[in-house]
Amino acid sequence: NKTTSSNFIRNIVIKDLESGKHKEIITRFPPEPNGYLHIGHAKAIVLNFELADEFKGKTNLRFDDTNPTKEDTEYVESIKEDVKWLGFDWDNLYFASDYFEEMYDRAVLLIKKGKAFVCDLNAEEIRAHRGTLTEPGKESPYRNRSVEENLDLFERMRNGEFKDGVKVLRAKIDMSSPNINMRDPVIYRIVHAHHHNTGDKWCIYPMYDYAHPLEDAIEDITHSICTLEFEDHRPLYDWVVRECEMKSQPQQIEFARLNVTNTVMSKRKLKLLVDEGVVDGWDDPRMPTIAGLRRKGYTPEALRNFCREIGVAKNNSVVDEQMLEHFIREDLNSKAPRTMAVLKPLKVVITNYPEGQVEMLDAENNPDDVTAGTRQIPFSREIYVEQEDFMENPPSKYFRLFPGNEVRLKHAYFIKCEEVIKDSDGNVVELRCTYDQETKSGSGFTGRKVKGTLHWVDANNSMPAEFRLYEPLILDGQEESDNFLDNINPNSLEIVEGFVELNMKDAKPQDKFQLFRHGYFNVDPKNTTNGKLVFNRIVSLKSSFKL
Ligand code: ATP
Ligand code: MG
Ligand code: MG
Repeated sequence: NKTTSSNFIRNIVIKDLESGKHKEIITRFPPEPNGYLHIGHAKAIVLNFELADEFKGKTNLRFDDTNPTKEDTEYVESIKEDVKWLGFDWDNLYFASDYFEEMYDRAVLLIKKGKAFVCDLNAEEIRAHRGTLTEPGKESPYRNRSVEENLDLFERMRNGEFKDGVKVLRAKIDMSSPNINMRDPVIYRIVHAHHHNTGDKWCIYPMYDYAHPLEDAIEDITHSICTLEFEDHRPLYDWVVRECEMKSQPQQIEFARLNVTNTVMSKRKLKLLVDEGVVDGWDDPRMPTIAGLRRKGYTPEALRNFCREIGVAKNNSVVDEQMLEHFIREDLNSKAPRTMAVLKPLKVVITNYPEGQVEMLDAENNPDDVTAGTRQIPFSREIYVEQEDFMENPPSKYFRLFPGNEVRLKHAYFIKCEEVIKDSDGNVVELRCTYDQETKSGSGFTGRKVKGTLHWVDANNSMPAEFRLYEPLILDGQEESDNFLDNINPNSLEIVEGFVELNMKDAKPQDKFQLFRHGYFNVDPKNTTNGKLVFNRIVSLKSSFKL
């Protein structure tokens, strides 16, 4: 059910194919391997891959690995896994670091053309020379070095003669340009660091604004889609492609970044949450990472549908996280088998039910899908119901259990509360009820009606399970704050111990269920053991959210 809704980027592609500017389009998804992918990246992935797909083009997965100190093969592997899991397959897999030699040669070409120079100013001095929006910049005293001197110094930079930060290579463009990005930007810096791919071969590394356009041009990318903050960098992008005399001329197109309420969306901040131990890893179910959403129980279909629905626009906005939840509910409604679980158990003894007897009751697996069939659930003299489904002194309109009241047990019988058992502190620890054999579910009984229907599990024929209930990790209004670590929701995870139907004994990690009244749950792949199932709540059943 892919919706190829129109957007301004798609319109550009259509125009370029119709005019014959391109015969085939090639897009790329270019993550830096410095963290795990998040839902914002999913938006870029869906956009790039589906655009190429629709017009029978190609999409490359390219690791933009020009920053050795932050990058790691762990991230490379996780990114590949996440892109595949989302349902996409790249045409080519590339590393920007494979182009280092060509990037170096192009920089030498710039020097020879008088378009680049080696500068000895340090970072602070360069910043001070750069000027402001209202004030032109000042030229570097090293700007007019001869081509020969620049060639010599650049080669010696490469050969490791200088320490980090002592020299840089800068493009020679225009220190009075109204666009600050054009004021002799740094294009190479010295970093003596081990690179995850090239090892110790290099000690100079290209800057993003120089490397990225070359990467795109080398791969014959036709449409280079990036986020809005690069709009002001586009003149520099075009300058690099032109002055480096690249055969291909990719077009940079910017679109709005995805932001979601109660969510931080930058790898830097997400890494802090991991490093500070706020979460149990990049795949903690509270993380907005693809790995976290997968472990929580999100499906690729739900994430893709979400990304299609939010669409592509030119202005930044914040999407309500309830919209993400809407799409997982929609996807799981038809897919997830129904089952019963009691999260906070209260024991009920049915005093007039024969001791030792166990009967099997029929229960439908999915009322919205007849093909899902039925299952058998055991019922006996002792069951568990939810603590919150009993009140000793209920308000009016309370239709669940209270002394003297009768309710329906889902798939079973009517029971009536006869007696309340308390411990020495006055806590309710058990209810004594009676059942009416004639009210069996499916028997067609119409003798009298009750208003409450409760879920339950058999106390002696069920399985213990742990349930993990999640709230947003980031409190309202703290998404953009740099102090977001001081404003973590202390109630983002609640762990409760309860019981599930015996049928769940064969449940596997990542199996998804709709637990009657509690919502959709996923079997946690990390914490589930042979002896004990651990469930992550993906989402509750109801919300006021409307598309
Ligand atoms: P972060 O700030 O999270 O590190 P980034 O932009 O530095 O994000 P990259 O690895 O460079 O991360 O991103 C790869 C691609 O994903 C880029 O093309 C980028 O534009 C896109 N992308 C990253 N974050 C978002 C987002 N929130 N919404 C849409 N696209 C995004
Ligand atoms: Mg980046
Ligand atoms: Mg980044």
